[in-house]
Amino acid sequence: METILVLTHTEADGSLARSAREALHAARTLNKAIAGSQLVVGLVGESVQAAANSIAACPATKYFGVAGAEFAPARYATDAAAAAATCKAAQATIVVAPATSRWNRVLPGVAQRLGGRVDTHVTGVAESGSQPAINRWYYRQRMEATIARTQRPWFIAIDPGSQPACECGAGTATVESVTVNLTGADKRTKVSGTREPKADAQTIRPDAELLFVTGAGWTKKQADGQTHVPEAEKIILEFLKHTRASLGSSKSLVDLGGEGQAVLPFLSHLNQIGQTGSTPRHPKGLSTCCHGEEPHTVGWRFIAERRAISLDPNCGWARGKADVLYVADAFKVMAKVNELLGQ
Ligand SMILES: Cc1cc2nc3c(=O)[nH]c(=O)nc-3n(C[C@H](O)[C@H](O)[C@H](O)COP(=O)(O)OP(=O)(O)OC[C@H]3O[C@@H](n4cnc5c(N)ncnc54)[C@H](O)[C@@H]3O)c2cc1C
Repeated sequence: METILVLTHTEADGSLARSAREALHAARTLNKAIAGSQLVVGLVGESVQAAANSIAACPATKYFGVAGAEFAPARYATDAAAAAATCKAAQATIVVAPATSRWNRVLPGVAQRLGGRVDTHVTGVAESGSQPAINRWYYRQRMEATIARTQRPWFIAIDPGSQPACECGAGTATVESVTVNLTGADKRTKVSGTREPKADAQTIRPDAELLFVTGAGWTKKQADGQTHVPEAEKIILEFLKHTRASLGSSKSLVDLGGEGQAVLPFLSHLNQIGQTGSTPRHPKGLSTCCHGEEPHTVGWRFIAERRAISLDPNCGWARGKADVLYVADAFKVMAKVNELLGQ
């Protein structure tokens, strides 16, 4: 019989992140698909009771918790010890966890300690059939595979944004405390603080409703024979300010910086989406001044509704890559959009 453990860490305020609820959704999907399986929850963090209570109405039969100040920060030694102890206490055969940066660092090592196997970047789990199986993408999101394993425990790291978040309600959960024996060496690493960009410098927002992608056209000569980079910069930043959209870029535009041309200073290679960039997940995407070529549109694989603005009626977007293409001057369209948003 499979025991499916949802293994997650709590946030600094003791709550559960959306990614944890997505992992819970995936685990419950497996639980429903595998006859006779049992669903249990494991929580690690400074405090875990509030998080357990927040999902108490879910069909889990048991809650395990590792709590204490030493488990507050993301630290390999304590996180790995807590995760391994929870898996053992739960006698887990399948461990479903959110692929947060904190867990991604730790889970492969925990799988090794417990003689198990781990699969990362999982985007789906089997919804039918008695054998557990997972889905993940290969070759820059071009090929999708379904994988089953016989080795246990099997660790499954669910990519955030790939699942609906479970909406099970709150209640009062009885949490079984798991003892973890830490040595002084386990606590040797100290987290002295966190550094992050200022809010207005942070243009990559994985949780945004909209992905706004800028292409090289913003820096090209326009109908008047001139480039208008400062104006492009103003329009793009104003749109981001109004919408809090996440900012993506085509490769051509971020590469221009390396070639010494006038570019948008807030763009880096981290913004690049596509075959050699990232593949973000957002409900909507709007591409502006970019051609919609194949390597670029690979990055749009997980964008649900795609729109584009390009002057070229024969661009890649027109050839079936966008749901809606506006053949128009993006400078004019976005200036008008900003004006309407400003009202
Ligand atoms: C192996 C490989 C991997 C690659 N990986 C990636 C990747 O990961 N990501 C990526 O993005 N690319 C990638 N590329 C490059 C990709 O093929 C394209 O060259 C690139 O995406 C083109 O960028 P662009 O559309 O911004 O620029 P361009 O091709 O120069 O297109 C600019 C567009 O802007 C339009 N335009 C100009 N002015 C306006 C205006 N005022 N209003 C509206 N539209 C306007 C033009 O009509 C044109 O369509 C890769 C290529 C290769 C070979």
